[in-house]
Amino acid sequence: MKQSLTFIPTLRETPADADVKSHQLLLRAGFIRQNTSGIYSFLPLGKRVLQKVESIVREEMDAINGVEVLMPAMQQAELWQETGRWYSYGPELMRLKDRHNREFALGATHEEVITSLLRDEIKSYKKLPLTLYQIQAKFRDEKRPRFGLLRGREFLMKDAYSFHATRESLDLTYDHMVQAYTNIFTRLALDFRAVIADSGAIGGKDTHEFMVLSEIGEDTIAYSDGSDFAANIEMAEVKVSYQTSTEELRDVEKVATPNQRTIDQIASFLNVEEQRCIKTLVYNVDDQLVLVLARGDHEINEIKVKNVLEAKSVELATEEEIQNLLNCEVGSLGPVQIPVGVKVIADHAVAAIRNGICGANVAGFHLVNANPERDYLVNQYEDLRFVMEGDPSPDGKGTIVFTQGIEVGHVFKLGTTYSEPMKGTFLDDNGRSKPYIMGCYGIGISRVMAAVAEQFQDDKGLIWPMTVAPYDVHLVPVNMKDEAQVSLADDLYTLIKSNRYDVLYDDRAERAGVKFADSDLIGLPIRIVVGKKASEGLVEVKIRKTGETFEWKKEEILDQLQSFFSTLKN
Ligand code: ATP
Ligand code: MG
Repeated sequence: MKQSLTFIPTLRETPADADVKSHQLLLRAGFIRQNTSGIYSFLPLGKRVLQKVESIVREEMDAINGVEVLMPAMQQAELWQETGRWYSYGPELMRLKDRHNREFALGATHEEVITSLLRDEIKSYKKLPLTLYQIQAKFRDEKRPRFGLLRGREFLMKDAYSFHATRESLDLTYDHMVQAYTNIFTRLALDFRAVIADSGAIGGKDTHEFMVLSEIGEDTIAYSDGSDFAANIEMAEVKVSYQTSTEELRDVEKVATPNQRTIDQIASFLNVEEQRCIKTLVYNVDDQLVLVLARGDHEINEIKVKNVLEAKSVELATEEEIQNLLNCEVGSLGPVQIPVGVKVIADHAVAAIRNGICGANVAGFHLVNANPERDYLVNQYEDLRFVMEGDPSPDGKGTIVFTQGIEVGHVFKLGTTYSEPMKGTFLDDNGRSKPYIMGCYGIGISRVMAAVAEQFQDDKGLIWPMTVAPYDVHLVPVNMKDEAQVSLADDLYTLIKSNRYDVLYDDRAERAGVKFADSDLIGLPIRIVVGKKASEGLVEVKIRKTGETFEWKKEEILDQLQSFFSTLKN
């Protein structure tokens, strides 16, 4: 492609509203433009990267017998009403009405549409399993669209859905998907981890997120330094055997702790370690108030609370609810002498606290030497806290370390969550009607493009891995007024192109400095500069990633390119 004929509007200045590197560089290098918050146009270079990402995704989906379809982005409200998500999805779902006042959603995801499609067509186990996928724009009115393509309101997703007659069949496809995702992100050269994720209301442990390791990631990943264990911090299990101290049980005392409300304040006021304090939180769990206890230095993980209690919703109780229950304010709450029938659950660490400190349920007072069983009752001890750096890895190998990640993919065993309410059923080999067992699998194609840009760049610009670079070669004659240069560059353009490399030919009558700066910014793997030695048939070559330069003769260029692209591991 001749650069004079395409559209690559590069910018010298960093756009003020772009706050992460990938966003800045994709704008500056002319890959994307923002239309409005969270909504982008892909310019020619951006579109080419998307296409390369898409082809990798298609190849890997096809390899595991996924079949491509395209479903509508505009979806009638009735489908979403069947599963109840019309009401539960909230403001993220973009809704609109047609001229007859019928309601629609712009597809945020396609479980409803695909289940309704198949339920009319697939009625026998003989036609299962089936995996369908599509690559399409998704719409989500995100609360905080940001970081450019990383969190958009209209973005490109590959979403796949699998349908099965048996759980074993789903398990098999799920494993194949995990392998396909691993292949995809490896081919994209990303530094990633598959992590155990929260399956939310759907339950079950069978969901993994694929996270690209990056300090701008919004998710925290807990991983082991001694094994391949990795989990979203929301889910990471804590497996610690706490040692109960052997100190003698002492009598409970009520002590005044004026204006001391936080664990930190209490611990220093009473001159004890935070580990001796019992943190008491009151949660509203599906309209019932529950006391949740943790050790002072631990944080309660609401997702674990929710999963343990098999609850639909878990929220901190309001001050008013707490007043009504315990006649006390936050800051002096504790588990001792609470009204009969109030459930108390505690993290395992609490069981090991001897002579602990807790709120007295009287404003400005705490109890010292509180002991479980003797002074307060706990209905259930569970794993309720967030994992911490330094905890032992739950698989018994190594120690937990944290890192940040960008979620680029998600695989999920849905079971019958959608097929049941939508009556998506088939007849099994005994002629019994059963709901399909389903899985769903997403990859944020446009988010992946930004994640690659985030991982591969330097202060001069982008550095595309070979597998997704918009072009392979940047051919740059220094001076378009120099006949020898233009003639050699023209020859090389034809030659390289006819050998099936994608070439971007900078035929613009710009100054050399501008051309080189743009070339660095755009970040193609290799640059061939046709300059002063053109008349001798010599060109200067620069590898974008390493900055290495070589001088090649015209005759050897094809061989050299071949060896460069075959040995280069991104
Ligand atoms: P997040 O937690 O980041 O909001 P999600 O759990 O809502 O993601 P899924 O519903 O699992 O995401 O969507 C599948 C994939 O689509 C995600 O793994 C991610 O790569 C991509 N994705 C989700 N939301 C966005 C968005 N707002 N912009 C770009 N890509 C997105
Ligand atoms: Mg989301």
